Amino acid sequence: MNKIKIEKSDCTGCMNCYEVCPVNAIKEIHYNVGDSEYKRAGLIIELCVGCGLCSDVCQQLAIGEVNEKDNS
Ligand code: SF4
Ligand code: SF4
Repeated sequence: MNKIKIEKSDCTGCMNCYEVCPVNAIKEIHYNVGDSEYKRAGLIIELCVGCGLCSDVCQQLAIGEVNEKDNS
């Protein structure tokens, strides 16, 4: 089964993916740029079962599948 990859630069931090993940494999990552704080989605790869629900709800198309062999 393929797991997913979140493209950080495309993620707006809407957290739709977080809401739908059945196994809590997505976490919020907070970061700062200058004085502003932002958040984005981060993947807990060990928990992901590759169901693809997060990819379905990502309007930014920031979530794609990766092969198990793909280390990129
Ligand atoms: S649904 Fe997409 S844009 Fe929204 S937090 Fe998840 S990866 Fe980022
Ligand atoms: S593919 Fe499924 S299990 Fe993996 S992070 Fe997305 S919603 Fe969660």
